[in-house]
Amino acid sequence: MNSLLNESDWRNELDWLDSQNATMLQLVESLANINSGTFNLDGLKKVTNYLTAEFSKLDGDLAILESRPQLSINSTGKPEEQTLGDIIHISKRSDAKKKILLCIHMDTVYSKDHPFQKCQWLENGYLNGPGVADAKGGLIVMLYALLAFEKSPLAKNLGWEVLINPDEEIGSPGSVHLINEIAHRCTAGLLFEPALPDGTLVSWRKGSGNFTFVAKGRSAHSGREFENGRNAIVAMAKLMDAIDQLNSTPDITYNVGNFQGGGALNVVPDLAIGRVNVRIKTVEQQRQVEQQFAELVSRANQSDGISIDVHGQFSSPPKPISQGVIKLQHRINECAKILEKQISWRGTGGASDGNKFAAAGLPNIDTLGPLGGDIHSMDEYLIPESLAPSAKLVALILLSFANEN
Ligand SMILES: [Zn+2]
Repeated sequence: MNSLLNESDWRNELDWLDSQNATMLQLVESLANINSGTFNLDGLKKVTNYLTAEFSKLDGDLAILESRPQLSINSTGKPEEQTLGDIIHISKRSDAKKKILLCIHMDTVYSKDHPFQKCQWLENGYLNGPGVADAKGGLIVMLYALLAFEKSPLAKNLGWEVLINPDEEIGSPGSVHLINEIAHRCTAGLLFEPALPDGTLVSWRKGSGNFTFVAKGRSAHSGREFENGRNAIVAMAKLMDAIDQLNSTPDITYNVGNFQGGGALNVVPDLAIGRVNVRIKTVEQQRQVEQQFAELVSRANQSDGISIDVHGQFSSPPKPISQGVIKLQHRINECAKILEKQISWRGTGGASDGNKFAAAGLPNIDTLGPLGGDIHSMDEYLIPESLAPSAKLVALILLSFANEN
């Protein structure tokens, strides 16, 4: 397939990208200096405006779409709706026979009042800043790869869709419906989470699910009528311990991550909430966990005066190495050869929107962003000189698809 791309098919486009690294870096720095924590709607709006101006250069059909609200269980055990930011969707040559999805998120894990707000340069020449790698660098790599691709006469053969969502860091509850829709219209997906610091790309990913357990008991005065109380905290503690005991292999992990309940010490508590994150490698394991939870809850509900509900799901199913992924890996390895690079691949326990696209049937590679590390921490950094090379690899991938028709 590589042999189908002649040097004349890519030389000008890649040379142009080589000249753009400094501009790309400036854009990443400006973007990272705007806080866009998932729940900072004002910040997300600013980033949306900034990106809309930049991505308009692609001359596609650009639309700003509303997210669906996030549904969650609040600290009183009741369902709650949370408004999320807007989504940017761009489509070009939507009637093309073959279309590629390009996707990355604009939100970060750093809230408006987090101490990590601005970029600074490190002594080793790396850029330290909120979201520089995850995923503001990825946004700019995606943009420049497309700008380069659109300069090529081959571009007319290939359609593409861009999805920039505002809620990936909380599992994309407000944009997953679009992920499912787009997956069915495209033949492959390219996502722009950061590559590992040494350039390794991610092949498979574990699936992830968040579950909230709500226990209701009966309150009573702890002195006057203790015997009439039914203690929800104790029931929940037993359930959480039973869930923790399920940990027996690194393939499936159960993390009891949050526990709420109780008030005054002279009251038998009638409400407790336990929250658990589960990671699995296969769909069979997903079913197994769902069954385990159903059984544990039904056993706990046999206690007199206690009722427990479970909410939540595996919002990110596991992303295995499918036939489609193997083909994509092969294509990317071939494109890397043109750049005189060799790609290493490995799996990870972390989930991304790539899991959701894969579950909807779209083979994808999801670490095509720039090189960086220590993401989700104040040490997050970007390796600045990786911006143009990452965009070059993606431009070649797009050109190779366009050259096949
Ligand atoms: Zn990310």
